[in-house]
Amino acid sequence: MSAKKLIAANWKMNGSRALVETVSQQLTTLNSEVDVLICPPATLLAYFPVSEHYSLGAQDISEHAEGAYTGELSGSLINEAGASFVLVGHSERRQYHAETDQLVCAKIQQAIAAGLTPVLCIGETLAERQQENTEQVIAKQLAAVYASHPELLAKSVIAYEPVWAIGTGESASPEQAQETHAFIRRQLTGYNSEAAAKVRILYGGSVNAANCQALFTQADIDGALVGGASLKPAEFLQICQSAKD
Ligand code: PEP
Repeated sequence: MSAKKLIAANWKMNGSRALVETVSQQLTTLNSEVDVLICPPATLLAYFPVSEHYSLGAQDISEHAEGAYTGELSGSLINEAGASFVLVGHSERRQYHAETDQLVCAKIQQAIAAGLTPVLCIGETLAERQQENTEQVIAKQLAAVYASHPELLAKSVIAYEPVWAIGTGESASPEQAQETHAFIRRQLTGYNSEAAAKVRILYGGSVNAANCQALFTQADIDGALVGGASLKPAEFLQICQSAKD
């Protein structure tokens, strides 16, 4: 379990320059007891003032370093836009863009090569949970990256996001989330025990101001990846404030 929690915002394909202004101003009221990460659409990254109160991240990265890949963003371009993190393997990318575990692994390698911290998103679908395959699915998603590259774990953040909880208003219960987070940490211990003890494992899936506190008290929940509620500046600030230890 990590000492300081990380609260990450995934704006997805939402937001505006006006929202950048509001959120960046509001976050200046936070002190350093919590780490905050904002992942807006890449076109908005450069509009965020440089600040000690938050870091910036992209929502995706190319598996290539440069070249003729129209529409893609390399790690160095993301870096130059002011970001130091990148989400990789979000379920919406896996679902709508057919991203495989192998592609996700290549993207993580590109992120780290460019000096970015990847936030690896993993999680099971509703059908997979109902078939009691949650652990099997997650183990496979983790193995695809860390079985062959255990050294990458020390430079990663993990986000457990059950697909059935994303954008549905139905969060995993704190106990359900803790059980899976503990499983994730045990799996990672098999690849790199020192890094597994320290890696931050975020929970994502309908986190809001009302349910975050109970999630944050769980031993293996080191923060949150917040979608919908991150677009409401006052609520997002409240979530960040709840994450102070
Ligand atoms: C997400 O998209 O990563 C997410 C967790 O969304 P929401 O908080 O809206 O469920």
